[in-house]
Amino acid sequence: MQFNFISNASVPSSSGRTIAMLDPSDGQTYDEIQRSNASDIDLAVRAARQALDNVWSKLGAAERGRLLMRLSLKITEQAQELSAIEQRDCGKPTRQARADATALARYFEFYAGACDKLHGETIPYLDGYSVLTWREPHGVTGHIIPWNYPMQIFGRSVGGALAAGNVCVVKPAEDACLSLIRVAQIAAEVGFPAGVINIVTGYGHEVGDALAHHSGIDHISFTGSPRVGTLIQQVAAERHCPVTLELGGKSPQIVFADADLDAAVPAIINAIVQNAGQTCSAGSRLLVDQAIYERLLLRLGQEFEHLRVGPARLDLDLGPLIRQNQLQRVWDFLSDAQVANIPVVAQGIVVEESPQSGFYQAPVLLRDVPSGHRLAQDEVFGPVLCAMSFRDEDQAVELANATQFGLVAGVWTADGGRQFRMAKRLRSGQVFINNYGAGGGVELPFGGVKSSGYGREKGFEALHGFTTLKTVAIKHG
Ligand code: NAD
Repeated sequence: MQFNFISNASVPSSSGRTIAMLDPSDGQTYDEIQRSNASDIDLAVRAARQALDNVWSKLGAAERGRLLMRLSLKITEQAQELSAIEQRDCGKPTRQARADATALARYFEFYAGACDKLHGETIPYLDGYSVLTWREPHGVTGHIIPWNYPMQIFGRSVGGALAAGNVCVVKPAEDACLSLIRVAQIAAEVGFPAGVINIVTGYGHEVGDALAHHSGIDHISFTGSPRVGTLIQQVAAERHCPVTLELGGKSPQIVFADADLDAAVPAIINAIVQNAGQTCSAGSRLLVDQAIYERLLLRLGQEFEHLRVGPARLDLDLGPLIRQNQLQRVWDFLSDAQVANIPVVAQGIVVEESPQSGFYQAPVLLRDVPSGHRLAQDEVFGPVLCAMSFRDEDQAVELANATQFGLVAGVWTADGGRQFRMAKRLRSGQVFINNYGAGGGVELPFGGVKSSGYGREKGFEALHGFTTLKTVAIKHG
């Protein structure tokens, strides 16, 4: 049984109710979390406010940085334990779960170093004035986290918020959150003051909604679906609470005829199979120069046929999807593809060791997907790659920009001029040239345009979002 973590203590929900946690690899219940409600959120927000006023705001920036660094080191020491938790909770293959624990440690390392480097400016003004700006924390920040990368998203969101001097109330996803409860416990063990990091679990429409509504929350960082992102914005707007939204994507991978296909092919595949396609920045649309369309599809098809899906512990190319309704969502998209006569180029293999009760989906490569079709427009959030061809650079840009999303784009070309032109013309928060994702560096500001959200997390830029700027003008004559 898992509990909320409030004021450095394990606390049951006041509802007395729980939610069963399923192992996606076999669909069986293996633990329970608290089904919290508005009064649990209230308890956590009060604890956070006290911590802010009495302890956290009184620590020097360097001291805050030292604490974050201690947490980073401890996470590294306990990476094995944390990744084992995440693996079971999310169905992640071993290498992915380990990479997520490493990224979590790296976020705290990066933000540890940033704590005492965030500062305002002085502004030349009228004679007799001195004007300066201070970057001040918002105060109590709320963090609503999805199930696909709990550790990574906690690291980037909570790490940045703490570095900027905020305290945190975290609402993880009901489908996967056990690693975050453990990280909060570890933070307490390394000396984080009570109330600085609080975790309250439960359903989105109950406890997530209560968090968004709570008047004691000064900033909300939300990562999840565009639908819920809209709800959060509406709730936050009522009390003018600032929000950072990291929503979905339908990201294009654009391959020109002069691309280095030996480099592109593994990256194209990884961009859609990583985390079984349940990645907001998944490269789920493949746009290919018509001159090499057949050649590239032949090559990718051969690779797809060898991709293997199975229980997380087998550490294959893909693990299971998170839950039955996610699997059903992917099946619905695939049956729409069939109805529309969209050809399947190839698909991978679900290995025999996979229990029938697990949530397994083989990766699928589709071709000639019409740009207006739902498959080319909506987020599948599963291992489905939709290929289409283009005739020239202009059409590549037009197709790439033709969705409601704008999170990430990848471009493969040897032409230096085209690299810059494409980077400028793509409506996207990140553009990767001759790579996809650049290894996910925590230093690289991340976020979207259009329905992919707004505000930036990761990198130093995130600290601006986690602070508010105060201008102080002194008239001294
Ligand atoms: P979701 O929006 O259903 O849930 C995300 C979180 O919001 C969960 O913690 C959930 O409990 C909570 N929530 C749900 N309803 C709520 C409500 N009414 N009020 C407050 N909180 C509520 O999304 P999901 O299915 O968990 O995750 C998949 C989506 O997240 C995809 O669209 C994906 O692209 C997106 N995502 C985006 C990023 C990014 O950085 N841009 C990263 C990961 C996932």
